[in-house]
Amino acid sequence: MKKREFLKVASTITAGTIISPIAACNTATKEEDEITKFILPDLPYAYDALEPFIDKTTMQIHHSKHHAGYVKKLNAAKKGTKYDSMKLDELIANVSNKDTGVRNNGGGHFNHSLFWEILTPSSEVSLMGKLLDAINGQFDSFDRFKDLFFDAAKGRFGSGWAWLCIGETGLFISSTPNQDNPLMKKIVKENGTPILGIDVWEHAYYLNYQNRRGDYINNFFNIINWEEVAKRFEKYS
Ligand code: MN
Repeated sequence: MKKREFLKVASTITAGTIISPIAACNTATKEEDEITKFILPDLPYAYDALEPFIDKTTMQIHHSKHHAGYVKKLNAAKKGTKYDSMKLDELIANVSNKDTGVRNNGGGHFNHSLFWEILTPSSEVSLMGKLLDAINGQFDSFDRFKDLFFDAAKGRFGSGWAWLCIGETGLFISSTPNQDNPLMKKIVKENGTPILGIDVWEHAYYLNYQNRRGDYINNFFNIINWEEVAKRFEKYS
């Protein structure tokens, strides 16, 4: 890490400022030539904070190896390309299916940055207010929403994600393969802004759950940071 980057990270930590990982990813570091270098955001809680629902070792490997790998490969893949000066959300919106490295690793960086933020160890964060009303309005009931989200996540063949998104006609549930994301206009057909997402790659659950993806998805509902999801809902709807 360059000294300037270190100081930036260190001052962020010292100030105790809560910065959205997505904002943090976007701030990254701006070089004189306007090349954005993305950095791995810190987790907003300890590696063992989500136990027993997600175990410490899974979180540690997931964040410090998998997510870190996406960041490193994204920086390498975009170097010298038209994506070099783009912020993360801009890069995701514009990525073409021909730019495989930027698509896979940009998606990986974006998706995981969102994922860490919408999880919480606190059992006191509950779903209420406008988002609850919108979920009830769109899916008839919370239980029905949960069933549909579960099916999208369980039914994703192979690796990928399930999402709750805001689209032109309101909330919808979708699923994307690999590290694709509903914001990828040139790649994903059903476009919207994801406000909640679950990683169903085996690396997200296999150590603790082995082949029981359904148990992992059900437990995911115990650690959703609904306050954070609601913030995104109000921002993007
Ligand atoms: Mn993952």
